[in-house]
Amino acid sequence: MNTLQEARNQVLEQIATASLQAKRDVDAVSLLAVSKTHPAEILKEMYATGQRAFGENYLQEALDKIAILSDLDIEWHFIGHVQRNKTKHLASSFAWVHGVDRLIIAERLSAQRDASQQPLNICLQVNIDDQDSKDGCAPAEVAELVRQMSRLPNLKLRGLMVIPAPNNTQAFFDARQLFEQVKAGHAHPEDWDTLSMGMSGDMVDAIAAGSTMVRVGTALFGARDYSK
Ligand SMILES: *Cc1c(COP(=O)(O)O)cnc(C)c1O
Repeated sequence: MNTLQEARNQVLEQIATASLQAKRDVDAVSLLAVSKTHPAEILKEMYATGQRAFGENYLQEALDKIAILSDLDIEWHFIGHVQRNKTKHLASSFAWVHGVDRLIIAERLSAQRDASQQPLNICLQVNIDDQDSKDGCAPAEVAELVRQMSRLPNLKLRGLMVIPAPNNTQAFFDARQLFEQVKAGHAHPEDWDTLSMGMSGDMVDAIAAGSTMVRVGTALFGARDYSK
């Protein structure tokens, strides 16, 4: 077995164990493989292990890989911060965008998504633990943003995305509570099904709190080398 296969098996096992401990269904948590900085051929190897959902942070790097790997059935997720001038390519080339935190961004994504494509899946990023330097809307803004973004025609607002400070386990529970609050008041609660939280170092805690999608890079691909 190659090492990517082993790494993926280990991560899937961790997800299964954490789900079991939290008394949750194993298939209630999906694995997003965060492949930023890794070359297209590595993604192709990971794809061969059965992985289909890949997450990227840097637009140009992602677009290059999307072009190279266009014959593969990959579900592409953008998990970086979304800048206003980047929405056009995100709208056309991705299946999911996680880092949406302002109405204007969602409006642009909806306007630029081709109506012949599937609706673009969106997660609303929340600054759940009030970090100074962090992206994301304030928790108090969530209800109103959900109301407004849910009306946009070419988007499907699926839930929340958070990146709490390291070791802030409580933040995952706060995110879950906010997620459930929105669901309770949602006109179509079945569309509100995604809580994107947890990375290599904290996915077990995130799953315990109710994550439905963990975004895992290092544990799957090894450490990233930004110097290359
Ligand atoms: C890089 C990144 C990840 C993956 O982090 P690892 O610690 O390598 O698992 C997850 N989410 C976001 C938003 C990231 O930028």
